[in-house]
This record gives sequence, C-alpha cells and structure tokens, in this order.
Amino acid sequence: MKILNKPLAPGGTVGIIGGGQLGRMLALAASRLGLKTSIYNDTADAPAFQVTPLAMAGAYDDLQKLAAFADACDVVTFEFENLPAHAIAHLGEHVPVRPGAHALAVTQDRLSEKTFVEKLGLKTAPFFEVSSADQAREAFSRIGSKAIIKTRRFGYDGKGQAKVASAEEAAKAFESFKGAPAILEGFVDFSYEASVVAARGADGSFLAYDPPENEHENHILRRSTVPSRLSRAQVEEAKTIARKIADALDYVGVLAVELFVGRDGALLVNEIAPRVHNTGHWTIEACQCSQFEQHIRAVAGWPLGDPSRHADAVMENIIGAEADAWEALARTGALHLYGKAEARPGRKMGHVTRLKPKT
Ligand code: AMP
Repeated sequence: MKILNKPLAPGGTVGIIGGGQLGRMLALAASRLGLKTSIYNDTADAPAFQVTPLAMAGAYDDLQKLAAFADACDVVTFEFENLPAHAIAHLGEHVPVRPGAHALAVTQDRLSEKTFVEKLGLKTAPFFEVSSADQAREAFSRIGSKAIIKTRRFGYDGKGQAKVASAEEAAKAFESFKGAPAILEGFVDFSYEASVVAARGADGSFLAYDPPENEHENHILRRSTVPSRLSRAQVEEAKTIARKIADALDYVGVLAVELFVGRDGALLVNEIAPRVHNTGHWTIEACQCSQFEQHIRAVAGWPLGDPSRHADAVMENIIGAEADAWEALARTGALHLYGKAEARPGRKMGHVTRLKPKT
C-alpha cells in the first residue's frame, strides 16, 4: 500500500476513474502542474483518453484491472460517483483514494446523503424512504401535495426521477423503477437554484468559489451565472454549508453542493456531488485557480489555489446537436468541446463561457 504524506512532486501520476469531460478537464489541469494522469474508463472511446498519457479501459467492478491501474498511480480520484463502493474500497487497499470510499458511499445514495445532511443540522426538502408501492403511497400522504420520487442510486440529469401529484402516481412511478429503492421528496417551490463548489485540502484547509446561480432545462444544466442573486449573507451561509459537509466527510478534493433558494431566502441542500461539477466550469476562465486545478492540487496534497473570481461569467452548456454550430459558438466566448464523436440528444458536448468585467 502506497502512502502520500507529502505533496506529490511534479512527474507523479494522478489516477482518475472515469473518462468523461470532467476527467478530460482534470487531466488538462494536471498536465499544467507537471503531473501525469492515468485514466480508467469502462469504454475505450472516452473523451479524456484523448488528452492523457496513460489510459486503461475496463469494467468498474473488475477488481484485478483496478488493482493494476492503482499500482501505476501515486493517488487515485474519480470524476463521477456512480461507482461500486466496494471497488473504490478495493482501490484504497493499493493506493490513497481521494476523496475516500466513505464520502462516495454517503453521497451516492440519496437516502444516506439526505440523512447525513439532516444530521448536520442543514435544511433539505422533507424526504421519506420508499421500498414498496405501499410505502410510496404512505410517503405521499405524509407530504400531502406535490412530490418527487427518485431512485436512491444511479440517477443523473433527471434520470430515475418523476414528479407526482397523487399517492397513486407515486406508487406507479415507484413501480416503473422496477424494484430499485427510492426516496420521495416534497416538491420545493424554490425561487431559484444555486450551488457552491468548494475544496478541502489534505491538511483540512478549506476554500470555496463564489456560488453560481443555475438554470436547468429538461433536467439538464443549461446555464450557470456568477454573481448570483444571493445576498452576501447567503453566500457566506452557502460556503458554511459546504464546509460543514466537507469537514464531516473528512473530505479531500473539490465537492459541489446543489442548493434550492427558497422564496423566504432559506438555503436547502438538494444534492452533494463528490467531484468537480458542471456548475463550476466558469472557474477555468474567471478564477486564478479553476475547480479542476483545485481538485488536482487537493488530491495531490498541494496547497490549495486562489479561488477568487476576477470577472463576472455566464457558462452555457452545448447540448446534443447544438454542437454543430461550433464555428459560430467559437466567435462568442471561450469554447470548450469535449471530443465526443456522437451528438446524441441530451448529451453534453461542450460549453462556452462568456466573461464580463466584474461588477
Ligand atoms: P437532482 O437529480 O436531485 O439534482 O434533481 C434535478 C433537478 O430536479 C434539480 O436541479 C431541480 O431542478 C429539480 N428537483 C429535484 N428535486 C426537487 C424538489 N424536491 N423540489 C423541486 N425541484 C426538484
């Protein structure tokens, strides 16, 4: 078992599980710091494979392959949370994994995540465990009006969730999940959505980015804007929420906390992402140290970088066939394309960030 009790020197190798656009942008950031990346993905056509010196394709539960991957790395991190927790624990026997198996286990299950958040004294939508159609009906009657039922695991971009307006609808939606355990949440009539992207270093230091305001379309992030409409006090509260969560998980790396901003100004935690996040992409152009560099710094045991924002920014995702307009988009701002061959509907193909002088 390797240990990493001092900063990883340039030339060292950071392993990244998952080879999507987040892995790709992490690899680019690592490379600027003189660190190598090795990327593990379950298919051979991963966007991140195009920009990393070392890559391996294998199943996420192939323990033998994962062990071989770990042996070639000095530290391992991941870019998405839907990984088998036992595989991460296995990796942890070979190489330091940051953030660790515990943070992943808590955040990849909506029930354990919301229970954890509530225990920290933070606000969430009311929620109930649902493991049967009867429990779905019962949970709906306790919520009383509109609700959302979500599978506990493996949901993203609106997949594995349904809005329901009656006990019968709740039961039907649960049945459509084909037995997957779920939670039922009260529907929050929020004013808008925001998120806080923050980092905790290996030494426990903590720094947060300015929280963006986020707009979703068809359950997919369309746009993140900084500054948001949050007041100064709400910005501080959002950062404190992220700090409480990061400290309680003994977290190392970048994490994102998605928030609902209530009409009364309350901040409710919707979800924790134990990784770099789409709502933090604007930090590449608008901050001295981007979320990607920050994550690499944290997992490599380096001092955290300056997250302060030197410009106002709007980041827009380029989704599906919108990427066909790349030439026109390239004229409008800082264009990022992820190198994905096929522009399927709903697929994140790239993003564009537009800066304005800081207000
Ligand atoms: P999630 O997968 O939990 O991040 O949910 C995706 C999106 O669905 C959120 O960003 C919200 O726009 C919406 N949503 C999720 N849960 C709720 C809720 N309890 N009340 C209102 N809207 C929600």
